[in-house]
Amino acid sequence: MKDLDWQNLGFGYIKTDYRYIAYWKNGSWSAGELTRDNILHISEGSTALHYGQQCFEGLKAYRTKEGSINLFRPDENAKRMQSSCRRLLMPEVPLEMFVDACKQVVKANEEWVGPYGSGATLYLRPMIIGVGDNIGVSPAPEYIFSVFCCPVGAYFKGGMKPTNFLVSDYDRAAPQGTGAAKVGGNYAASLYPGKKAKSLGFGDCIYLDPATHTKIEEVGSANFFGITKDNKFVTPLSPSILPSITKYSLLYLAKERLGMEAIEGDVYIADLDQFKEAGACGTAAVITPIGAIQNGEDYHVFYSETEVGPVTKQLYDELVGIQFGDRPAPEGWIVKVE
Ligand SMILES: *Cc1c(COP(=O)(O)O)cnc(C)c1O
Repeated sequence: MKDLDWQNLGFGYIKTDYRYIAYWKNGSWSAGELTRDNILHISEGSTALHYGQQCFEGLKAYRTKEGSINLFRPDENAKRMQSSCRRLLMPEVPLEMFVDACKQVVKANEEWVGPYGSGATLYLRPMIIGVGDNIGVSPAPEYIFSVFCCPVGAYFKGGMKPTNFLVSDYDRAAPQGTGAAKVGGNYAASLYPGKKAKSLGFGDCIYLDPATHTKIEEVGSANFFGITKDNKFVTPLSPSILPSITKYSLLYLAKERLGMEAIEGDVYIADLDQFKEAGACGTAAVITPIGAIQNGEDYHVFYSETEVGPVTKQLYDELVGIQFGDRPAPEGWIVKVE
């Protein structure tokens, strides 16, 4: 294993040894290969640079107690990337090719997967970008599919701590827009509102539904969930939310392992009183308890601003236990890297 301060890693770029790269030219993907070169040399006319024709994914590799390495539901990332590609008129990467690329990258960078118990993981960043000579607004003539990785630290150092969020006046996506696709454009639009929220001391902003501004959609770059006072797991349903794999995993675990009713539906910002606990979920955020939400003059505290609620903690233990191989996984959720 590499000599890193595994307990204290953050979430930042660290150059690892190998990345995977494949090229789409003349209607087909090249055989992908691993390379040590982390610099892309692309045309100045690439559509990814001008018109945002690109999409990405994010997933992690986890070191188990036995020393083996787990991927968590990589086929779901493959399918979501295909759907992002369809929305942006980019060629889809076949599911097997995607999962194989992820496995190859983890295997080649095995020494960058942190030790079991440190909380560190290897974050994988698959992406597809439109490249090749172009200037008009049209899909690119060529594409690059790449997967690189960086070791990242435990999201929480020294236990789970709630974060506070600010309801934004801005929208991250439009009705019928690209909110459900994992594309860079959504993120470019979120940098300014995110910076404003952070400068006021919040973790990030909460985006409401773009049509009526009455319902919660996203918590920064994570999905929202709440636990109602009668113990139901509730998460928003909308075509402009990014369908989080963590969120769908929690819907399943809340129902099947915690015996809760699990619901996708409208979550009105004016109706936060129904919740005893709330959280944000995603690959990077894992499960982040939400301490409080500021909405204009209204400041709503959930379980506590300093302590994690018991249901949120149970969901966290179940999810993370499965990812690190300590708890039994539902069929197909864990893919071993061998
Ligand atoms: C990636 C992402 C998420 C989380 O999705 P996971 O599959 O759980 O990692 C949530 N919201 C946005 C906007 C995202 O881009």
